[in-house]
Formats: sequence, C-alpha cells, structure tokens
Amino acid sequence: MSVLIVGSTALDSIKTPKAENPRLLGGSASHASVAASFFAPVKLVGVVGNDFPQRYLRLYERHGIDLAGLQRVPGKTFHWSGEYEANMNNRRTLLTELGVFENFKPELPKAYQAAPFVLLANIAPALQHRVLDQMQRPRFVAADTMDLWLKVARPDLLKLLKRVDAFVLNDSEAQQLTGEDNMRSAFKQIHQLGPRYVVIKQGSHGSVLSCPRGMFICPAYPLQRVVDPTGAGDSFAGGMMGYLAAAKGPIDRHIRRAMIYGSVVASFCCEGFGLQHTTRVTQAEIEKRVQELERLTRF
Ligand code: AMP
Repeated sequence: MSVLIVGSTALDSIKTPKAENPRLLGGSASHASVAASFFAPVKLVGVVGNDFPQRYLRLYERHGIDLAGLQRVPGKTFHWSGEYEANMNNRRTLLTELGVFENFKPELPKAYQAAPFVLLANIAPALQHRVLDQMQRPRFVAADTMDLWLKVARPDLLKLLKRVDAFVLNDSEAQQLTGEDNMRSAFKQIHQLGPRYVVIKQGSHGSVLSCPRGMFICPAYPLQRVVDPTGAGDSFAGGMMGYLAAAKGPIDRHIRRAMIYGSVVASFCCEGFGLQHTTRVTQAEIEKRVQELERLTRF
C-alpha cells in the first residue's frame, strides 16, 4: 500500500561546528519520503522552484518516489538554513526564505486521492487540512508539526488534531502544546484533542508511543558520531509510516516495530549531511540495526 506524504521540499544550508554545506536537498517531505521509500511506494506532494537541481529530482526518482504531485513553478525553492551548537542538539534557524512556498496550494492528482496512508509532514496546518480535504477515505493519517505552528497557527493545528489518527511531536512541542512537563499528563491531554496514537520524540533518547493498547518506549540507535541531525524526526515519521503501509493487518499489531524501523532510518539520517547518508543505505544495513536494537533492549 502506498503512502502519500505532504510537507516541505527545500534547499537546506546547514552549519555544524565541523563543516558547512549549502543548498542540500532537504525539507520535511524529502526526508520523510526517502525514509518511507525503503518500505512502501511513496507519493510526494510539494512545490519547488526553477532553481531546484535536476539531480535532486533524479534522487527522488531513484527511490521510486512518485512526483506527479510535486509542483514545479517559476521562482525560488524554499530555502532554510540552520546552525548547530557543539552538542549537536541545540539548533538555531539562521534563515527561512519561503520562495515558491508562499503561494503553495497542494493539488492532489486523482491517483493520489485514494492513498490509504497519509503523512502530513511539517508544513503549515492550513496546507495539511487542504490535503486531507482532497483525500477519499484514508486508512491511517499521521501528522507532524513544529514549534512555529504552535505559536502562529494554533487554532488550525487544534482543528487538524481532530482529523488525524496519529500525532508525532517532540518533547518541547508537547510541553508547548499542553503546558505539561510530565509526559503521561501531556499524552492524556493530547489524546483529548483527538489523536488515538501520540508519539513524543526525545531526540537521541528515542521516542514514546501512547495508544489504546498502552505505551511503548522506542529506543534511538546509539550512534558513535552525529554529523547532522537535520531531518531525523521526519525520517523517523516517514520510516514508521512506510513500514505501516507495507505491513498487513491491524495498526496495533505493527506500530511498535514500525517505530523501531523509523528510529533506525533516523539514525542513518544523522550520520551524513542532509540526505547524503540516508540515500546510500541498504535494506541489509537497516535490518542489521533493527536486530541490534532488539538485542540491546531485550531483558
Ligand atoms: P527536523 O530536523 O526534523 O526539525 O526537520 C528539518 C527540516 O525541516 C529541514 O529539512 C527544513 O527544510 C524543514 N523546515 C524548516 N523550517 C520549516 C518550515 N517553517 N516549514 C516546513 N519545513 C521546514
């Protein structure tokens, strides 16, 4: 089964204490789509300008990503720039140039409207709504967000939460949304806002799921060296949704393992700038890390 993914398709300029890399392929939808493509066919919805390099389009294609929903319009591609501190956890946004994103109106090709799995990756909640409005009856919808939308588009986001099955956010966003420092209390409040599945991400400490069957603590793969964590959250969500789309049977039976696969793909994402490492990973390498995580957490 396929996954429809909407989000940002960007050029990312990333600075770490060790290196600087301009105009890499980035954006929430790019990271999520490549991650999901390891498991299931992906339909991408996004927009790029005429400065978007052909080699990035070819890279999507190499991952079998359907680009019928990727608008290519005159103007500049969304450009985001961020800088990491030495600990590689704290990040500062240096620049956000909206470019063609400013007037982006997602239009789904007919073939996209029946997609059973939908990932509303980080993008303005109004656009996430617009995509859902065009869908027929998706089986499972997950949404991601960022602190910005909690600040400037809170009413839209709250309305969106009533329309999704799963909500993926990081711990500081959960605190910002609910005012709760305690994770269990935050879960309770977020469930009351709509989603039956809530995943709170904790960066290098993994993530926690709360769902009708209870909680699940998903580890992060312990990396020796983090090169660039940009897009790790998107890779996690993309990997998880790709795995769920490929699995047969009820969501509850597969969601824990889906999170483990998401976590493993996210670990590869952190080992290179932008998508440079993720795009070179093999299925065998993914399986090896999943097995390692299994050994590390069995007791
Ligand atoms: P993450 O590291 O998971 O927070 O995701 C980083 C990605 O989010 C980068 O590839 C950026 O291009 C993208 N991004 C940054 N700001 C925004 C924004 N305002 N809207 C959508 N995507 C964004």
